[in-house]
Amino acid sequence: MSDPLPAVNFLKLPKDGDPYLEGHKCGSCGATYLGERTVCSKCGTRDQITPVTLPTNGKLYSYSIVHRSFPGIDVPYISAIVDLEDGTAIKGNLIKVDPDPAKIEFGMPVEVVFDDALGRKDKEGNSYISYFFQPRSS
Ligand SMILES: [Zn+2]
Repeated sequence: MSDPLPAVNFLKLPKDGDPYLEGHKCGSCGATYLGERTVCSKCGTRDQITPVTLPTNGKLYSYSIVHRSFPGIDVPYISAIVDLEDGTAIKGNLIKVDPDPAKIEFGMPVEVVFDDALGRKDKEGNSYISYFFQPRSS
C-alpha cells in the first residue's frame, strides 16, 4: 500500500508536514487562483504568478444541498463555496453540519480540514485525501 494520494491537484501532501491547499497568486494584482496558470485572467500579467499556501479559514459564501449524486455517494450532502481569508473562492463539501437550511448560515466561519476522501480508492487500492469545510468555532 502506498501513501494516500491527493484527490485534487491543488491539494499538497508534504512528506513531513501537514496537508495544505496551494493557490497561485498574481504578483501584479494579487488575484489568487486554484491550479497553475501563467497568465493572470484578471489583469493579464504574464509570468508573475507564484505558488502560495492558501489560508484554512474562510466564510461560507454559498451552498446547495445535494439530494442526488453518483451511486455510492451518501446523500444528502452540502456542496459549498467558501471565500478564504485571502479572497480565494473554493468549492467543496461542508461537513459536520446537518444538511438543513435552518442550520446553515451564509457568512458563517468555516475552516478547511483534510480527511480521507469518503473511502474512495482507485483500482490499485490507493486511497485519496481530500479537503472539506467544517464550521469554525470562535
Ligand atoms: Zn493579476
